[in-house]
Amino acid sequence: MPNIQDLPNDIYELLEVGAVPSSFTADIVDRYGNQVSDHFVKAIYPEKREPSIRASNYGRPCTRQMWYEMNGHTPQQMDGSVYMKFAYGNVVEEMVMHLAQAAGHNVSEEQKEIIGPFGVKGHIDGVVDNYLIDVKSASGYGFDKFNDMEAFAENDSFGYLWQLGLYYHFIDITVEGCGFLVLDKQTGHLKFVDATAHIPTKPEVIARMSRVIDDIGLSTEPTRPVEATPKVAKNGNCTLATICRYCPYKMQCWQHDANDGDGLRVFMYSTGPTYFTDVKSTPRVPEIE
Ligand code: SF4
Repeated sequence: MPNIQDLPNDIYELLEVGAVPSSFTADIVDRYGNQVSDHFVKAIYPEKREPSIRASNYGRPCTRQMWYEMNGHTPQQMDGSVYMKFAYGNVVEEMVMHLAQAAGHNVSEEQKEIIGPFGVKGHIDGVVDNYLIDVKSASGYGFDKFNDMEAFAENDSFGYLWQLGLYYHFIDITVEGCGFLVLDKQTGHLKFVDATAHIPTKPEVIARMSRVIDDIGLSTEPTRPVEATPKVAKNGNCTLATICRYCPYKMQCWQHDANDGDGLRVFMYSTGPTYFTDVKSTPRVPEIE
């Protein structure tokens, strides 16, 4: 009986030796090919999706971000490089599920729709060896963050545990647990992380969803969460917190509350743009107007 804990080594062994079990048939390979081409087409012809509450976004720490999204505000345009990351992330994550199957593990329920509280929907990656699985592709830094799930739960900037928790509590089959299959895109290292003890409880999932629905129905923006507190440098300059840096609504969110009402100031460092809520000492790099 295959065990999810053995999955990374079984996949490495498969790739080293190439001994695919007879249960891995040509139609599974074809299905993988079709899914990759679907992702390819969606990357080039993205579907216009109406803003909605989804399993994948209700757990983000900032309901103010969701308020902007759901109340008709225009998000900042993302760089092509960000779209590129999404595009190959999808293909890589698909590959992991198919390699799991090729390595002889029991894979089922791929892309099954789950209907959570208040009818909010999402799709699971699948069930592997009776574990509900979410596949994540990560940078080396992101990969290491999964080593300490206590700390991860404290700082779950993308709401991954809320998403997994919703799936786990609302899936209509019995599973032994749930977790992440995390692939380091730089090194090719893969690991299984059991998250069963770290997901929110069912009442917490329902309460969180209820709060999100209440907050997006407010007539003005909800207050910012504590995680959005700007970082203060030794020279007194304040920059956006991590959750705000990646937020597509940061310009409108901070337009009255940064730099004495002038909004965010952006300076171009070699590592990319940095967003300042307060500039006490002007950075010696170009400012983007
Ligand atoms: S900029 Fe920060 S506080 Fe404002 S909506 Fe985005 S994440 Fe929330």
